[in-house]
Amino acid sequence: MIEPRVAAHAGRLAPGQLPAYVHDLAALDRDARVIRAALPERVELYYAVKANPAPEILRALAPHVHGYEVSSGGELTHVRRVVPGSPLAFGGPGKTEEELRLALELGVERVHVESAHELRLLGALARAPLDLLLRVNLPVPDGHMDRAALAMGGRPTPFGLDPDGAASCLPLPGGGRVRLRGIHAHLASGLDARAQVAVARHITTWAGEFAGRHGFDLAEVNVGGGMAVDYASPHARFDWQAYGRGLRGLLSGHEGLTLRAEPGRSVTAYGGWYVTDVLDIKHSHGEAFAVLRGGTHHMRTPAARGHDHPFTVLPMEGWPRARPRPAVHREPVTLVGQLCTPRDVFARRIEVTALRAGDRVAFAMAGAYAWNISHHDFLMHPPPTFHYLE
Ligand SMILES: *Cc1c(COP(=O)(O)O)cnc(C)c1O
Repeated sequence: MIEPRVAAHAGRLAPGQLPAYVHDLAALDRDARVIRAALPERVELYYAVKANPAPEILRALAPHVHGYEVSSGGELTHVRRVVPGSPLAFGGPGKTEEELRLALELGVERVHVESAHELRLLGALARAPLDLLLRVNLPVPDGHMDRAALAMGGRPTPFGLDPDGAASCLPLPGGGRVRLRGIHAHLASGLDARAQVAVARHITTWAGEFAGRHGFDLAEVNVGGGMAVDYASPHARFDWQAYGRGLRGLLSGHEGLTLRAEPGRSVTAYGGWYVTDVLDIKHSHGEAFAVLRGGTHHMRTPAARGHDHPFTVLPMEGWPRARPRPAVHREPVTLVGQLCTPRDVFARRIEVTALRAGDRVAFAMAGAYAWNISHHDFLMHPPPTFHYLE
């Protein structure tokens, strides 16, 4: 399941370069191109930077995205520097006054307003016209959530405004300098294409009625991200074609409206690999454990989500003859890292044909919410090296 060029690179890495993050920028370019091509013209693609903000990745995506969704002053400054001139949408709860000033200074194209207080701050700070979307927390319609999905909409959360709260934001403060272009909602993650289209339809219908009731022109609806990524099936992909068709149908009922989607995980997860080697293999009370160099302080994804992370074994020769080689054959094995905590687990009881000390292991789907969400300094092991394959 590993791309041959990634496997070749992983095999060539010097021992001192492990663990390593290997990002296949050609695969990322291909994935992003497929996504863009599947979306109708009136759907803008924004990349949610929090999934992976590495400069190489932001630049590789630049030809395919309309802009970037940022969620902090840090991301804002970073993306402006790395891809100057790209449109930015600034969302996220708890924006500070300093961050809002920075956003105005750097001229972000959109602010997604999370609360009435934030809106009042913006109204007071804005000197030039500023376009914003009200982020709303709408109930997700029944029957659209599959078991893997994480619902944020319709429940108490720190995100966005309740429908009533959105209504009480109008008319907007700021003497006309802040302009309401539309509505933003990011209601769930892990939804398949059919469910995503249903959620987008629900948001757009609500936004249309809201605009009608309050007498403003609905120019734009941002339907969020959260397109499903299934770590149990590295080959399955979110059905962007079906999603694109669904959104085309949806747009046909809304003349002049621009939709925006802001996926993160589904864009960059597949292009990244975390490669390391097996330090030791042992049995504990009848179960096999492979201890790998590095750990979930480099790739927190499986610990954060509680899943078995998909991997490929890359057999390596050259073990010293004089020393017995720890190994398992045709046996379930639990892959762990070097941290002194029982939570440092990549995958549990996975049957392998063979796994030996000195072999390399390449974890797939490590391009999103991996290095950048991890607790790097815990135990002070050396950091991984980073490789970007053109
Ligand atoms: C995290 C986030 C996204 C991206 O979600 P993915 O699951 O990575 O696609 C999009 N919009 C908002 C507001 C977010 O918080």
